[in-house]
Amino acid sequence: MSKNMRRDERSQAKNSLSPPIFQTATFTFNNSDDLEAFHSGEKDAFFYSRYGNPTNEAAERRLARLEGADASLFYASGMAAVSSVFLSLLAPKARIVIPQECYRHTRDIAEGLLNRYGVCVDVLAEYSVESLETLPDEPVRVLFAEIPSNPTLRIPDIEKMAEWARQRKARFIVDSTIATPVLFRPLEHGADLAIQSATKYIGGHNDVVAGAVSGSLNIIDALREQQALLGSILGPQDAFLVERGLKTLELRVQRISATALKLAEYLASHPKVSRVHYPGLESHPDHERAVQYMSAFGGLVSFELGGDSLKADELVNALQIPVFAPGFGGTESQVEHHVKMAYADIGIEGAENRGISAGLIRYSVGLEDFEVLRDDLSEGLEKL
Ligand SMILES: *Cc1c(COP(=O)(O)O)cnc(C)c1O
Repeated sequence: MSKNMRRDERSQAKNSLSPPIFQTATFTFNNSDDLEAFHSGEKDAFFYSRYGNPTNEAAERRLARLEGADASLFYASGMAAVSSVFLSLLAPKARIVIPQECYRHTRDIAEGLLNRYGVCVDVLAEYSVESLETLPDEPVRVLFAEIPSNPTLRIPDIEKMAEWARQRKARFIVDSTIATPVLFRPLEHGADLAIQSATKYIGGHNDVVAGAVSGSLNIIDALREQQALLGSILGPQDAFLVERGLKTLELRVQRISATALKLAEYLASHPKVSRVHYPGLESHPDHERAVQYMSAFGGLVSFELGGDSLKADELVNALQIPVFAPGFGGTESQVEHHVKMAYADIGIEGAENRGISAGLIRYSVGLEDFEVLRDDLSEGLEKL
């Protein structure tokens, strides 16, 4: 099926080309017969926005197309999507396997909330099948992975992990926020669900917080029912923004990826840079798999200056183009000294215990010209 929309699939309210923002909490019925027809399934209609809204539906249809999924469901944030999937698939005594290297708060949910509710959590030391084989021989309900992983951008062997999960009748969930469905579609490689923080590349302009889950109709329907109870819906204005973001996602990701590859190559050649983590570089441990899976390698580039935390601060302060802010995936380049931005509460030592290098700088490439970003980095590095 083509990922491009047909004319008759577009939102057609009053012939509006872009989907109207249905800024309404509730939907009206003509009379009790009309209501009954809705409840019996004879009439297709919206009921109350916690159960669904046409603006969200337009965004969901577009994302499902991109992910190659039966259906997608948007949430109030990426974390709402992650936590809702966990709550829906897990139960006390059920087991989840989650990698050591992943989005910090995903691991926090597993080790905090899920643990408290009696879910067994196994942390996978490495993204490898060998590492999976070292786990206790117990039934597993959920296997979780990220592609690329945050922050060293590892590319797990998704197909082998999917096979491992299948043999154990576990659900395999893949958070592909950093790849976006433009570069990698987890469902085509054996995942049961693909998660996106739409706050990042899908929204793409740092003006909306949103999340999404895509998969088969029966799982998404179950999540939709659960969402109506938990209430973690995306508001229609934000749904409009992510729908608009999806229209230019491919162009942005391709341009950003092309610039990121050149920046990664530049950094790798710089004498003051000790290590660059970018799957598009041959020096990256998963480069071969990255080439096999992806046509380009995304907009995040992580690098280190000899593991030196002070130097990382100095460089971040010296840069003039990228904004100094948490998050990534927007049109403006963003830079952060990762442990200080994302692990301030547990400090450098706590972050290092989780395998995060103290001097790691994470650079999210935006739409600026490569030469401008390179010259800015060059001047910043010169000052160290
Ligand atoms: C940002 C992010 C999340 C959380 O998304 P929010 O929209 O910030 O709640 C989850 N996973 C990954 C990989 C992310 O980068």
